[in-house]
Amino acid sequence: MLRIVVLGAAAGGGVPQWNCGCPVCRAARGEHPELRSTQASIAISVDDAHWFLINASPDLRQQLTATKQLHPKPGALRHSPIAGVILTNGEIDAVTGLLSMREGSPFTIYAHARVLAILKSNSIFNVLNETTVGREPIEVDQPFEPRLPDGAPSGLEVVPFAVSGKGAWYLDGRPHPGGVDGTGDTLGLRIEDKATGKHFYFLAACAEVSDELKSRIAGSPLVFFDGTVWRDDELITAGLGRKTGKAMGHIAMSGDDGAIASLAGIDIDRKIFLHINNSNPALLHASPERQIAESAGWQIPADGTEIVL
Ligand SMILES: [Zn+2]
Repeated sequence: MLRIVVLGAAAGGGVPQWNCGCPVCRAARGEHPELRSTQASIAISVDDAHWFLINASPDLRQQLTATKQLHPKPGALRHSPIAGVILTNGEIDAVTGLLSMREGSPFTIYAHARVLAILKSNSIFNVLNETTVGREPIEVDQPFEPRLPDGAPSGLEVVPFAVSGKGAWYLDGRPHPGGVDGTGDTLGLRIEDKATGKHFYFLAACAEVSDELKSRIAGSPLVFFDGTVWRDDELITAGLGRKTGKAMGHIAMSGDDGAIASLAGIDIDRKIFLHINNSNPALLHASPERQIAESAGWQIPADGTEIVL
């Protein structure tokens, strides 16, 4: 069985964001604590004993404390069920949780060479000793099977694929440590349980739904998809920022070319938004935006949501 735990569903900053007084953040601090959400990451396992994280958010320590499946096994003085971390991009909200995994347990980081180059160019990541924490390059459209710490196969097959997106925000205007070619900065993943063939897709960042992407994910039982903003200009009109969703590499939920409309005719059993920014009104349970999303078949998950395929 393929087990999935949503460790966090929020975009960068989380809900509430430390310096934000927008309606969602105010509600999350006050009368609606159920709106609180940590930054986006999921954990996956096929044996319920070894787990792989998809991205390592800045909230990882809190997420691990809250998730019993990821606790050390009973009786072990030092142990973690986490066998690896698969990175889909090099953004702060995808990589900085690695710094909370620096206490000497072995695991492997799987990432595109461009993201590995970012880690390599930042000496703070040297806190993860490469003899204990291996770094394995993954390639676009090349299936791979993550390994357990003893080298045994995990039973998972992961296919990374390129999706429309942007390089990490903090690299804007600076040379990319991985060179000029942009392919690989934003990956989607197809993740399959090799024993059962059950699979799902993970796309926490995607700037545009191409025809190629539609045909790729058609027929899937489950898709996690970029839900950063409701409207492309949401941060600007709310006075919260100067960038559109597209400029940050994120498609909007709404609009003619948004995620809801673009994927409306595609056969997908379960559609779940992930990486939802605190500015997004669809987070509010009673909002018209939430009703539109839900009536279009989309779910907005709470942290800790478990799914078994
Ligand atoms: Zn806010």
